[in-house]
Amino acid sequence: MRKTIEFIEGDTEGVSYSFPVYVFEGGPTGPTAYLQAALHGGELPGVVALDALMPLLRQADIEGRIRGKITVVPSANPIARAQYQAHELMGRFHFRTLTNFNRDFPLLSSPGDDPYALLEENSADQRLKARLLALSMGHDIVLDLHCDDESLPYLYVPKVLWPFMRDCAGAMNMDAVLLWDGDCGAAFDQASIDPYLGAPASLARFNKRIVSTVEYRGLADVDANIAQHDARGLYRVLVMRGVIEDEKLPPPNQFSGLAAPVENVEMVRAPCAGALLYHVKPGDRVEEGQRLVTIVQMPGEMDGRTEVFAPQSGLILTRRHHRATTKGDDLLKLVGAHPSATHKPGALED
Ligand SMILES: [Zn+2]
Repeated sequence: MRKTIEFIEGDTEGVSYSFPVYVFEGGPTGPTAYLQAALHGGELPGVVALDALMPLLRQADIEGRIRGKITVVPSANPIARAQYQAHELMGRFHFRTLTNFNRDFPLLSSPGDDPYALLEENSADQRLKARLLALSMGHDIVLDLHCDDESLPYLYVPKVLWPFMRDCAGAMNMDAVLLWDGDCGAAFDQASIDPYLGAPASLARFNKRIVSTVEYRGLADVDANIAQHDARGLYRVLVMRGVIEDEKLPPPNQFSGLAAPVENVEMVRAPCAGALLYHVKPGDRVEEGQRLVTIVQMPGEMDGRTEVFAPQSGLILTRRHHRATTKGDDLLKLVGAHPSATHKPGALED
């Protein structure tokens, strides 16, 4: 195993950022894997999962069971990780450019292109994105570990990789898969799959490729037992796809969750500001018209409450972790059987 430190120059004098990268070279012929976590600095379930995975990788390395290169970046965004304001970590948008750290990645025409050549402003966040993309390109498996607010575990999967990635969703014990295509704001997963969309089948090999944004439940689901569970899931993926050899590992679970196009996600929004009283939680099944949330808009008034109802039947995938909403803010994701009447092209969230 080789550890290197990546440096990202800051945009002002005296400032620079660094993060470690762990590489297991493995054998020359096996499939390869790239795993990163915490692109949005404060999303830590993936960080602790990778921390729990590392001993399994070290053991496999010692025993000579790693068949292809594995690159691990447990904490991919030191810029976001440092963005505290009034004791709150705000790791989603770069303070200087106000750009989401998981949008506006360079979109390469082919896997061999240089991401640095596509930088527009060359700001620190763009340099970081180019570096992460350069580190990941060429790997057969690319997993970007995030989390939602309060959530079931689920995957975003490019439609070209489905149903080939069903085994991955089963091995990781995911409850749901959201399938997307087209433009999602040049998120890391789009930047990872885009260069292969026009490639010859011998290079694209969609039946062998994994690209996914992994939503490891909610922000507060940072827990030793869950981390072990998720690490074993990642390890199963690596074994199943031939990156690591482990004949003693039992066969993984079959995926039995919900797979739906992202167009079927109802982004239920707050019609007014106020205090949120949720009547549903992630994992609940709801009927069309069922009450989801009460917003206490004018506390104390006879008609001071506003009810929010399900636009269609389906599964509650996520809800917010805060309880103070503004008008128009997202309240929850409901996955239905039909396209949402309010679906817009692009990423589900800003
Ligand atoms: Zn995220």
